Amino acid sequence: MGGRRTATAPVLIVGGGPVGLGAAIALSRHGVPSVLVERRAETGHHPKARGFRIRTMELLRGWGLEAELRARAQPQEAFRFIYCDTLAGEELARTPDVTELLHRHSPSGPCRVPQDVAESALRARVVADEAVDARFGVACAALEEGRDEVVATLDDGRATSTLAARYAIAADGVASDVRRSLGIAMQGEPLIAYWQSIYWRGDVEALTAHRPCIQFLTGARSGRFVTVASVDRGRWVTMVMLPPAGSRPPAPDERESAALVRAAVGREELDVEVLDVATWRVSAQVAERFRAGRVFLAGDAAHALPPTGGFGMNTGLQDVHNLAWKLALVLEGAAGEALLDSYDAERRPVAVANARWSAGNARLMGEVREALAAGDADRLERVLDRQRLHVAALRQDLGFRYERGAVVGAQGGPAGDEREFAQEAAPGCRTPHVWLELSGRRISTLDLFDRRFVLLGGPAAGGWAAAAADAARELGVEVAVHRIGAGHAARDPNGDFLTTYGLEPDGAVLVRPDGHVAWRAASGAEDDAAERLADVLATLLARRRSGAG
Ligand SMILES: Cc1cc2nc3c(=O)[nH]c(=O)nc-3n(C[C@H](O)[C@H](O)[C@H](O)COP(=O)(O)OP(=O)(O)OC[C@H]3O[C@@H](n4cnc5c(N)ncnc54)[C@H](O)[C@@H]3O)c2cc1C
Repeated sequence: MGGRRTATAPVLIVGGGPVGLGAAIALSRHGVPSVLVERRAETGHHPKARGFRIRTMELLRGWGLEAELRARAQPQEAFRFIYCDTLAGEELARTPDVTELLHRHSPSGPCRVPQDVAESALRARVVADEAVDARFGVACAALEEGRDEVVATLDDGRATSTLAARYAIAADGVASDVRRSLGIAMQGEPLIAYWQSIYWRGDVEALTAHRPCIQFLTGARSGRFVTVASVDRGRWVTMVMLPPAGSRPPAPDERESAALVRAAVGREELDVEVLDVATWRVSAQVAERFRAGRVFLAGDAAHALPPTGGFGMNTGLQDVHNLAWKLALVLEGAAGEALLDSYDAERRPVAVANARWSAGNARLMGEVREALAAGDADRLERVLDRQRLHVAALRQDLGFRYERGAVVGAQGGPAGDEREFAQEAAPGCRTPHVWLELSGRRISTLDLFDRRFVLLGGPAAGGWAAAAADAARELGVEVAVHRIGAGHAARDPNGDFLTTYGLEPDGAVLVRPDGHVAWRAASGAEDDAAERLADVLATLLARRRSGAG
């Protein structure tokens, strides 16, 4: 390892894709400076993922980026698949309308905005942030772990230098060199199919403007199955699925790509400008561990999810949102190192579940095609109804629950029923959204969570409120307290809070900085409430209470 040694950093982030950029933002919001290195000088221009799920939009709402992304997004009715022979040909089927469902449980709906647009917005935020030392055009050539730090060799193409950091986040994508160098294996299906994405520009407004959708799935009856996904006005991605082969199939050249697009659109004369062609491997794999000492894997470096679910980028952004507050508390000495183990315990099962679920969606798409090819109307209706869950996916999106990790009293699998998702405030769940009124403003309960622990109590939860103040003082961490209901600053205009949260008027929940429920007491505080809450906080923070009885 040679070259100039630069200043040390609390956290080094390797990779400036959406997940690395998200990590820098999340850390900064917790007051943690970082160095981010991205080997490309520019952000990616191929619009790979094209949508944010509801939970991710809730995070982006907290980061103040929601409005900017929505301004570039497709309309909400675009959340559906349309099956047709070609765009110009007969429309065969649509998935059911889920617009209302997508907004029922959240202050933010999902958002169909392409990855290149999202990455630019994230990058602009990172570049403007003084807490982030963002270095584009700089690669991490090696990462070595010492006793108290990780030491990276950085290469800007002209010279190398070294950088020492307390922790590193490897957000260096699916081919992660950091993961390889740590000897962490991937588990699961390495090759489901090869997909080829043809990114193009062309005017198909007359065929599409009246029926925005996630994708047009063409050729279901002919057997030449090609999808045409809208990116935004005038920009499209046409995807061709190829069966797994021994080696990567050659990419079509520009002329072949344009011909494929014209065939899927059903217009021989269409003017097609091919902007890029990418061949990529669809797999369903999750790293065997997300942590090796001081290095954490996040995003595609930790999990390669099939795109039939749209969870790749979403799961990655949620990874770093989960990790940031833990790193912040450990770095400031408020939590023990063991809190960082909860990252793997919590996020790996989510990635495994998302990989399995996404692979299942591909099979479901196959069933729709079969029903269409067979002309079986009853079967088609049943399969399309099941595909409603691919599009809305509330249980996958909002219902995942951390069963092990930084939670006290967690039990059971995902929240809600598969078909009729219901929010729950059980430990490990994403804390439910309920509309409140605070100082005359309409806010969501979710707007109360971001940087600190928060105790949310019913109108008569004075016992828990006092106990939280005592416990917070003892452990030296911040716990914000909100009592909700009549006589308090935060009012519950629709009377939803107690039922949705499963609380008596004197009960309370303790919410983590990432908006997941850490612990719940459904009813009132006893005399030992402060002791109980201090024990809960100490467990969450992986600390021992000094002098506790
Ligand atoms: C062609 C294609 C189409 C896709 N389509 C879809 C889709 O339709 N739907 C969907 O949900 N998902 C899709 N995906 C997946 C989605 O794009 C990823 O899930 C998402 O980009 C993951 O973000 P990330 O930040 O983890 O990784 P990436 O976006 O891969 O970012 C990793 C970054 O790390 C940088 N890097 C790597 N090594 C180093 C190093 N040593 N030093 C410094 N920097 C480094 C890379 O340059 C890169 O910018 C697609 C992916 C591809 C490739």
